[in-house]
Amino acid sequence: MQAKQISYLDLYSEHRKNVPKLIKMFVQGIEQNDFILGENLELFESAYAKFNETKFCVGVASGLDALVLSLRTLKIGRGDEVLVPSNTFIATPFAVTHVGATPVFVEPNIDTYNITSQEIEKKITKKTRAILPVHLYGQACEMDKIMAVAKKYSLKVIEDNAQSHGATFKGKRTGGFGDINATSFYPGKNLGALGDGGAVTTNSRNLYESVNIFHNYGSSKKYFNEVVGYNSRLDSLQAAFLSIKLKDLVKKNTQRQVLAKIYMQELQNIGDIVLPKIAEHSTHVFHIFCIRTNKRDQLQKYLQSNGIQTIIHYPVPPHMQKAYSYLGYKKGELQIAETLARTSLSLPLYPTMPRENLLYIVKKIKDFYKK
Ligand SMILES: *Cc1c(COP(=O)(O)O)cnc(C)c1O
Repeated sequence: MQAKQISYLDLYSEHRKNVPKLIKMFVQGIEQNDFILGENLELFESAYAKFNETKFCVGVASGLDALVLSLRTLKIGRGDEVLVPSNTFIATPFAVTHVGATPVFVEPNIDTYNITSQEIEKKITKKTRAILPVHLYGQACEMDKIMAVAKKYSLKVIEDNAQSHGATFKGKRTGGFGDINATSFYPGKNLGALGDGGAVTTNSRNLYESVNIFHNYGSSKKYFNEVVGYNSRLDSLQAAFLSIKLKDLVKKNTQRQVLAKIYMQELQNIGDIVLPKIAEHSTHVFHIFCIRTNKRDQLQKYLQSNGIQTIIHYPVPPHMQKAYSYLGYKKGELQIAETLARTSLSLPLYPTMPRENLLYIVKKIKDFYKK
């Protein structure tokens, strides 16, 4: 018999305080017929650009679309190679495949789980056109060194900032280093909409204008189409909701960091647990609190039997997915990604998570290792 149930994420507890404001925006949107490319979208785009420390932002339909549109805008396509991490959410390599280019997997650092300039450099060929670093789990990549490698080989950089809204490297926010950058507002992200959403950010007016045309049927003037574009727009209602939620983002990231710190203190030297490591110059906004253990499956089962829900990010690395079987990778070829897939476990963590829940999880983990 188990009384206590702790879910991995409790989005309603995140939204509860803002429900009246969200409803007000919803009603206003209906009254003003503000649904597509309206004022609410423009307000959010400029607020997010400012938050992200970039000149421009274009709201799009999803994080995957933000990546695809970024690659298209850079004219990356057939015959090109794009360097992506071997351990990431599938959207990152899928975007590369969608534009006709080939994803080339770079192994991450085993401590930070992010790709490094050193490993990137090893995978550069004559066909390489761009680097697509992911600030995984909420931690910023070493963007100074990555930008330097890109410069050395004349490569473009597209940051995948879907997991790291608000993280910084050397004091500067992620999503503003690359030539053009993508992010997602999937509900569970640090900044999440009440549905799908994403954005492209850049400091280049040319790239901004190009994305702005691409995502809206290739037109800047209605019914005049300059290129074969997409329909990938962030709904104005979602934009309005995001504007409300953006105001709390910094505070919510801090709450995540406070909880993560307690996990880190409490789980030190427990069994074979490997805790997240924060790299020098990087901040971590803990989109995901990922631990590692060789007893991962047993631990997950034990926690589940005690009412604690955990998630594995990610159980199958992209090169081992059925969708990519045609790339011809063999098991064992990307060992760090495969080790991470075998040993990673993400513990519940969200800004409003009660401290007592966290302490209960810690207690159960300690019990597991005592047995
Ligand atoms: C969530 C996520 C995406 C994709 O975002 P969607 O909005 O779900 O398309 C891309 N990259 C990473 C690293 C993600 O975590």
